[in-house]
Amino acid sequence: MSKLISKIFFISLIITVSYTEVHTEYSTFFDDKANINRKREYYNYLFKNYDAVNHFFDVLNYNINVNIYNCYTSPYTRAFSGEVTITFISTSSINSIDLDASSHSIIIDSVRMNGTTFLHSNNNLAINLDRTYNTGDTANVKIYYRHKDVSDGSFYAISGQVFTDCEPEGARSWFPCWDKPSDKATLDLTAKVPSSVKLGSNGRLNDSTLTGDTLYYHWISRDPLSTYLAVITSRVNYKLDIRYWHKPSNPSDSVPIRFYYAEGQNPYHIEDIIVPMTDYFSQLFGEHPFEKNGFAATTSAPWAGGMENQTLTTLMNSIWEEYLVAHEYSHQWFGDLITCADWPDIWMNEGFATYSEALWNEYNGGQTAYKTSIDGLAAIYLAGNPGYAIYRPGTYTFNYEITYAKGACVLHMLRYVLGDSVFFNAIKSYATDPQFKFKNVTTDEFTEKISEVSGQSLSWFIDEWVKQPNHPDYNNTFSFDPAENNTWNVTFTAKQVQTNTTFHKMPVEIKINFETGNDSLIRVMNDVNEQSYTWHFDRKPVNVEFDPDNQIVLKRASTNGIGPYAGFPAKFALYQNYPNPFNPATNISYDVPVRALVTIKIYDVLGKLISTPVNETKNAGKYTFEFRDTNLASGVYFYEMTAGVFSEKKKMMLVK
Ligand SMILES: [Zn+2]
Repeated sequence: MSKLISKIFFISLIITVSYTEVHTEYSTFFDDKANINRKREYYNYLFKNYDAVNHFFDVLNYNINVNIYNCYTSPYTRAFSGEVTITFISTSSINSIDLDASSHSIIIDSVRMNGTTFLHSNNNLAINLDRTYNTGDTANVKIYYRHKDVSDGSFYAISGQVFTDCEPEGARSWFPCWDKPSDKATLDLTAKVPSSVKLGSNGRLNDSTLTGDTLYYHWISRDPLSTYLAVITSRVNYKLDIRYWHKPSNPSDSVPIRFYYAEGQNPYHIEDIIVPMTDYFSQLFGEHPFEKNGFAATTSAPWAGGMENQTLTTLMNSIWEEYLVAHEYSHQWFGDLITCADWPDIWMNEGFATYSEALWNEYNGGQTAYKTSIDGLAAIYLAGNPGYAIYRPGTYTFNYEITYAKGACVLHMLRYVLGDSVFFNAIKSYATDPQFKFKNVTTDEFTEKISEVSGQSLSWFIDEWVKQPNHPDYNNTFSFDPAENNTWNVTFTAKQVQTNTTFHKMPVEIKINFETGNDSLIRVMNDVNEQSYTWHFDRKPVNVEFDPDNQIVLKRASTNGIGPYAGFPAKFALYQNYPNPFNPATNISYDVPVRALVTIKIYDVLGKLISTPVNETKNAGKYTFEFRDTNLASGVYFYEMTAGVFSEKKKMMLVK
């Protein structure tokens, strides 16, 4: 079982939080997916009567000034006043601009500078400009506004903490903006707070000014960011530690990594691993790109997990967990440095971040640990696949099984197709390409880039795995035929039988085991369905294994010998149950090469015998039975097969 499965399972059992604003309940998970699910519900509500307007300007900078002084003391009001000066460049001839400003949260008091009159209605702020601006002209509008004392899922004031959380489109709830990921702008933020407060935001702390019992924090992000990655995280009496990472390209240039936490929390393990993690991700994805980075923990937040705000990840409910941090930190490259062009491209953020958890496991535990992570993600997808594609134009696809787990497995299979050196070269070339860095990317641009770097068109790969739903279901056959001089022909036919998606072209690996005890591993491109391959050997084959290392992780497969010489398995084998996790039934397959007494027993996690579904003499063959027990509680169970000297035990998980 992968760590990811067990932690999701564990957390989902113990925490259920009701989110009254959207009148729904949800389980929180050990990732940012709960956030996304919750936000999606909220924004479906918000967008109900709102059509996105055309956008003929490009925001260059937001200069935000908020007075949140009163939000830290009881009764923890969410009401505050603010000003935002938006500098934009016109991309057409315009005499007005439309911005996003939540009607639920924000009251607009006035608009100044190059704005004249305005209309704030239905989450839209339409501003008439003082003249016509032509392409290339820049202008500033200054908006004076107030945030109401309302709950909006974006601006929080809880027990001496003030924090924001904007993905996907919640920034408009705490400052008027053009709230789409594709319009990145620099950010200059000043916040007025009590002197006991520490406040973090994007970019670098420019200055903090103390006047009596009042502090003004002034943060500047010189690097442009998408509005959903703008953040304030603050707290009375926050503790702050700073570690420094030295750039390999310029060791005298040290990047501060800030850790904000409350008394009693334990960020120390994360503080210890952050420098090696920065080194590792820099080595894989290109040098860490920002002027600072950091993590800030909140308590009493309405969900648990992380949010990858640019240069300051929020760890909701103080989860200082290594793999959550690996996920969020990799988002600094995949998500923040390079941002999905629009929400249908969100897998470019989440698939990469989830894949990076597996890469961090590889850093810690090598290939076996990496593959355990990938197999765990594949199991999550196979058990919960909702049946739609990763990339669906015009939709929000924030589904854990698809956007996160399948997205990560697709990257694993890309690594398998390309081989390690080409794959990592392609990923690094992509992540360091100036046409994407500090900008946005579409799925097609990514496809073009990796095709260019690898010297081969990969659109077939992205089309079938990202743009088509579901996965291949192989029903392969093989036969052995004696030839002259004690030689043998082995014929293998790769056949896909799924009806819910297209044929999936893939290189496939076939392992042929011989009577002599050795084997041959052959890799061929399977580019049409029902493709047959014949190989000639001077040894007698006994069995064929399809994809023996399970590189095509998103598949179902059965492979059966046909004809007089290949009808039986070569050895005893017990296979991983499927589906897994399961509820209430799962299939268990096993092989019997010669007639033998076979026993299969089910045990609980304490070793107590639950049942003995198989206990009889079996003829040689391949067998599958269904295990079903509706009386069992959720948890880990073991199934053990014994036959003569053969014995093997495997783990399975029941999740009710
Ligand atoms: Zn994420």
